[in-house]
Amino acid sequence: MRARLELVTRLGETIGDARDLVELFRTLHAETSRVMDATVFLLSMYDAASETVHVVRQIDRGEEHEGGSFPLGKGFTSEVIRTGMPKLVRRWATEGPPIRLLYGTESGELVTPQSAAIVPIISKGQVVGVISTQSYAPQAYDDTDIATLGAIASHAATAIKHMRATEQMALAYRRHALELEAVLANMSDALVIVDARGAIVRLNREARELLGLDGASLVLGQPFDAQRLEHLPKSAREIAAALLPIVDSVRAGASVDERDVELTIGQHRVLSVSATVLGAAGAEPQGGVIVFRDVTSQRELERLREDVFAMAWHDMHTPITVIRGHAALLLARVKHGRLDKKSFVNAAELIVKHSDRLADLLTALFDIRCLQAGMLKLSRWPTDLGLLAAELVEGLNATSRHKLVVDASDGVIGEWDERRIRQVLTNLLSNAAKYSSEGSTISVSVRADSDHATVSVRDEGIGMEADEIAQVFRRGYRANRALNVRGGGLGLYLAHGLVSAHGGRMWAESPGHDRGSTFSFALPIGTREGETGTA
Ligand code: ADP
Repeated sequence: MRARLELVTRLGETIGDARDLVELFRTLHAETSRVMDATVFLLSMYDAASETVHVVRQIDRGEEHEGGSFPLGKGFTSEVIRTGMPKLVRRWATEGPPIRLLYGTESGELVTPQSAAIVPIISKGQVVGVISTQSYAPQAYDDTDIATLGAIASHAATAIKHMRATEQMALAYRRHALELEAVLANMSDALVIVDARGAIVRLNREARELLGLDGASLVLGQPFDAQRLEHLPKSAREIAAALLPIVDSVRAGASVDERDVELTIGQHRVLSVSATVLGAAGAEPQGGVIVFRDVTSQRELERLREDVFAMAWHDMHTPITVIRGHAALLLARVKHGRLDKKSFVNAAELIVKHSDRLADLLTALFDIRCLQAGMLKLSRWPTDLGLLAAELVEGLNATSRHKLVVDASDGVIGEWDERRIRQVLTNLLSNAAKYSSEGSTISVSVRADSDHATVSVRDEGIGMEADEIAQVFRRGYRANRALNVRGGGLGLYLAHGLVSAHGGRMWAESPGHDRGSTFSFALPIGTREGETGTA
């Protein structure tokens, strides 16, 4: 009795160590065999949903065998499962159904146990399994054995409950991890998770791309510090360096709310970075999650909107004032019958002129918007560039205070959007006139080789230095010397965009201040296969 009590106590202490059912089976067998005949020992689990008994393992005369499954049937095990009551079989031959044990066949003889003690393992009122000890001797067990086995089974129930909880937790954790993995992989933002030391423990595909990392060049778990970044590509190093203060900040327990970080090495880029500290409130920070993305084009667009708004305000202000002033004047004169024809024509002309300016400005703003959004539609049509240039120059010559000359090769024809090319050329011609003195010459040349048509507009005006040439196509750029002439710095930006939309390029040349400028653009001749005409 003492041995049995000791066993049950010991079992209570050790059984929790079993990590799986096989370990549990072995512990149970080892302990049971110390206090009773356990020549044959089985541990079975019962799955109520499928009414199936799964034998975890079985031991016969010291030899362990694989388990197996069988549907709930008529045997003693099934009976114990159904009733939830232990079963004592004193003399199998007379009390039980005939059984033949497979594992007996190895030694050549077919043996059958003569007695058995079978107890249910009950958890939360349900039979979850069965422990069965059997002996080849009849009457090997009595009620005390049933009681002892019952105590063992209750410990087994606790262990199984514990195991299932752990298993479920592991499963839930795995599912969680898989979900997280999927989220990270599909995120369009770059994400880096760092631990308390500031070492990268995880980063997603976007982060890898932005940091220019392939699998080999980053060892996870290393502190994210300047020294280790040296082997990164230059642009990636700049991003990594920009992230360093963020890493320091989360290590110190401070989250970072959407901060723009400007990158200036190479091309200008803007990253938006946020970081959240990991760890319970008030506890030591466990590291952090840093999320960042390239917002360069977004910021560009925002800036464009602001610029356009400012420009629209500035440039529309004058024509609107003029239109309103002259309209009000006309109205007052009509009311008082003091309107002569000359002043009427004068005011009306000004109103028309400034309305046109307003309309042009609105069109330019709209075009820029379309260009930026990639929505500019080109209507390509066979266009003769020489004719177009001649026609424009002829039109201007009538009113211009400059001498305009055209030198165009014959038949420079391609499929271009005539209206857009006219807009580009008009802009170059009006700039040439704006930035050169009256009476000077503006020459236009149109040439073609086998695959490009090139148009150049040369003036004898204020010219440009190299640093001005470098910026002349930037949106809103105006050289200092141009500031006394009216303009918004949008024309060349738009012209450049229109030429690019045709697959062409545009450039500027000048020997320096006061030595004239040449603006040229080249267009590919013919449409390329598959081109849609949408830029
Ligand atoms: P805007 O003429 O309205 O200022 P543009 O985009 O057409 O806008 O031109 C941008 C700037 O480029 C001008 O402000 C001027 O500084 C320079 N520029 C353009 N055309 C010429 C030219 N023919 N000669 C010298 N400078 C020019």
